[in-house]
Amino acid sequence: MELEYKPKNCWEIFTEEQKKDANNFAQKYIEFLSACKTERETVEWVLKEALSLGFEEDFSRGNFLKVIKHKSIILAKKGAQPLTSGLRIIGAHIDTVRLDLKQHPIFESCDLVLAKTHYYGGIRKYQWLSIPLAIHGVVVKETGEKIKICIGEKDNEPVFVIPDLLPHLASKQNEKKVSEAFEGEKLAPILGNVPDKEKKENKFKACILKILYEKYNIKEEDLFSAELQFVPAGRAKIMGLDESMIGGYGQDDRICAFCAFEALMSTLNPEHTIVVVFWDKEEIGSDGATGAKSLFFEYIVQDLIDAWEPGAKLSQVMSKSKAISGDVHGAMDPYFEELHDKYNASKLGYGPVICKFTGHRGKVSANDASAEYIAWMKKILNEENIPWQMAELGKVDAGGGGTVAKFLAEYGMDIVDMGPGILGMHSPFEVSSKADLYATYLAYKKFLST
Ligand code: MN
Ligand code: MN
Repeated sequence: MELEYKPKNCWEIFTEEQKKDANNFAQKYIEFLSACKTERETVEWVLKEALSLGFEEDFSRGNFLKVIKHKSIILAKKGAQPLTSGLRIIGAHIDTVRLDLKQHPIFESCDLVLAKTHYYGGIRKYQWLSIPLAIHGVVVKETGEKIKICIGEKDNEPVFVIPDLLPHLASKQNEKKVSEAFEGEKLAPILGNVPDKEKKENKFKACILKILYEKYNIKEEDLFSAELQFVPAGRAKIMGLDESMIGGYGQDDRICAFCAFEALMSTLNPEHTIVVVFWDKEEIGSDGATGAKSLFFEYIVQDLIDAWEPGAKLSQVMSKSKAISGDVHGAMDPYFEELHDKYNASKLGYGPVICKFTGHRGKVSANDASAEYIAWMKKILNEENIPWQMAELGKVDAGGGGTVAKFLAEYGMDIVDMGPGILGMHSPFEVSSKADLYATYLAYKKFLST
């Protein structure tokens, strides 16, 4: 009998059939990732797919969906068991780090027109310099008309850039600490460089305003009621000579959202009612009307109860539920091995990471999943020979982080973090493993159907 535990590498235990499935699954994921760069775009993608698969905002059917303010979405599939036996829930977040345009974004400097931004979420500022950026978002007019903007993704469209300082003049900057060398106010991509010869003042800005008006019917004041974001331009890609990985923007946390969505759709006739929820605002603390701290999730569960099992107690439905907080994990980084505890770190290619607790400095602010729940989770994954690994994020006191797990845990339900490890988290080009993507999908599917 082997007493020592060894994690299993997906590529070593997948059948040829599974390897093929993993490759096909990755192709579909790459399309999704390339098309969905904002929470709004992700909601639209999910909504379109779900409607085509028979989901409706109608409780009289077994397949329910609801969109919350264009930025969050919930899908539910009715199970055979009563709601009071608990739900199976997977929550993931669909907002991603980026540069949001300020409300007064457009200004001139050195006869260039630039756009002021305020970064969203935890970015390393220098990573956003000298890379092609696209603008995505909406502008809402007072009439209610919504103008969708997406510039920089097609081959014939322009892109934007924040040029980095030339090395020839960087000697002073090179002496500074990274946290001081790059300023948030300077994250201002260039919009244009042509003057309007009829104007005396702000003639470069005037030219950009004219283009906005002629092309999109937008005046400067309309930018107050807009949500426009600079995101890395271009598609997600297969990565590595062995084509085993995926590189792309926004994998934290759209990789979990994609796996959860596919798992929900491929779970037919579930035993328990299954709920998949995609939240906004995780990267800035889950506050706001569309974040995990909002009560909308609870309201919708109450509506489900009223429609599907009137009189059932919300407290019972919630506390009997089992949930996964689907979020990515920081995989062991070959460039910064010393920041990980190698005995408790995840590696690319070993399946989804079960993270018992998150938090920082002595587990503060953590959801700490119970031993009983982890035992149950191990059992269901091992039953199907689905690879998984157990890890925590970084060495003790090296830093830390949180997820949405603790907000659902408040209802007394069992919840644990589980999702693929990635490299370069929050960078414009994050790296994941095809095998982990597929194994996460298998794990979520098993969870939802158990
Ligand atoms: Mn995340
Ligand atoms: Mn994140």
